[in-house]
Amino acid sequence: MTADLAVIGGGIIGAAVAALAKKAHPHLTVAILERHLIGTGASLYGGAVRVPIGTTPAHRELARRSEALFRALGAWAGPLPGRAASVFWVVPARREPEFADYWVGGACRPATSDETARLARAMPALTLAPDDLLLVDETAWCGNPGATASHLVGHLLRQPGFACHEGVHVVAIEDRAGGCDLVAADGQVFRSRHVVRATGPWLDLHGRRVPDSGLRTKKVAALHVDLAPAADDPVIVFVEEDAYLLPDPAGRRWILCISSPAWDVAPARSGLACDAEDRAIAARALRRHAPALLDRCRGERVFCDAYTATRLPAIGRDPQSARSVYALGGSGSGYRFAPAIAETAIGLFEGSLSTMAVS
Ligand SMILES: Cc1cc2nc3c(=O)[nH]c(=O)nc-3n(C[C@H](O)[C@H](O)[C@H](O)COP(=O)(O)OP(=O)(O)OC[C@H]3O[C@@H](n4cnc5c(N)ncnc54)[C@H](O)[C@@H]3O)c2cc1C
Repeated sequence: MTADLAVIGGGIIGAAVAALAKKAHPHLTVAILERHLIGTGASLYGGAVRVPIGTTPAHRELARRSEALFRALGAWAGPLPGRAASVFWVVPARREPEFADYWVGGACRPATSDETARLARAMPALTLAPDDLLLVDETAWCGNPGATASHLVGHLLRQPGFACHEGVHVVAIEDRAGGCDLVAADGQVFRSRHVVRATGPWLDLHGRRVPDSGLRTKKVAALHVDLAPAADDPVIVFVEEDAYLLPDPAGRRWILCISSPAWDVAPARSGLACDAEDRAIAARALRRHAPALLDRCRGERVFCDAYTATRLPAIGRDPQSARSVYALGGSGSGYRFAPAIAETAIGLFEGSLSTMAVS
């Protein structure tokens, strides 16, 4: 069988591509080819937050569009995993003017005294410096991108004309008349008229280079803080340290995400770990904002993501194949930007997918 659209990679971006394509064109035949299991790449590790924020107009547009598409996907596929959450932003006063520009729709405002008291109850260890401002946004969403990918694929599997092939490692894309052959490591060949490559931090696909994006892998690291949050506790972001505390009530812990400086790491399921530098970064953030948590860091979650130089996703046509596009470079925001990335990638096929849907 030849699919109309094959998606290589069943992370949050690949799942969003398949879901948006099928939602817009129910008659398309769509397949996902995933080398492991759906949602178990970078998407598995992100105890993650969707916040309506962006440092540039292009990032803000991705955030705005993604939230609209997440709502549409939730209406189509049933409520997406996760929960609405408040986010408290700890911002040094000198950075407030710059920070105020980052918001989509002016979602952020100074916390009231009631809200500040609520935060103190949720995280008694929190200490604010005299020049720290506390801002609050109530439009965020805490979820797991891997669980969201699984939810979307679960819904897709109930639609006619959708197939999900797990354990299929695509090793080559070969152009042929009217489409592509996707060659798997075991020699099987899958035919498709269009291909979207959404392989996350797995950047090598047998000679398929992504031009001009500066794509590299970067470690994404988080420490587990052994303290049980309540079901509705907020996210706390330390803007200056580029770190945040994410409540994980199901895991009875908070997750302290930091920005690790390690580049060009391989997306190996084992072998990635916090090193001394990552721990020093985490300790600096905690020493400043919640020193009592320093002794409570036990365990970690470490993986990597594909990053671009601009932190904007790399979405484009494969220079070696007219029928294939790539959607890579989540840059640590691949969850919150996934639907907009997916929509842009699908859009590169212009009218040809919709022509197929009606033919
Ligand atoms: C600890 C942590 C915290 C994070 N926090 C946030 C956050 O708060 N907000 C946010 O927006 N983002 C966050 N992220 C980033 C986010 O999780 C990623 O950007 C996103 O999950 C990337 O999705 P993806 O679909 O591009 O990649 P992946 O989820 O890695 O999916 C790619 C898939 O492709 C498959 N694949 C690869 N090569 C092949 C092949 N040749 N053939 C077949 N299949 C293949 C892989 O097995 C994988 O399943 C966080 C990440 C981590 C690790």
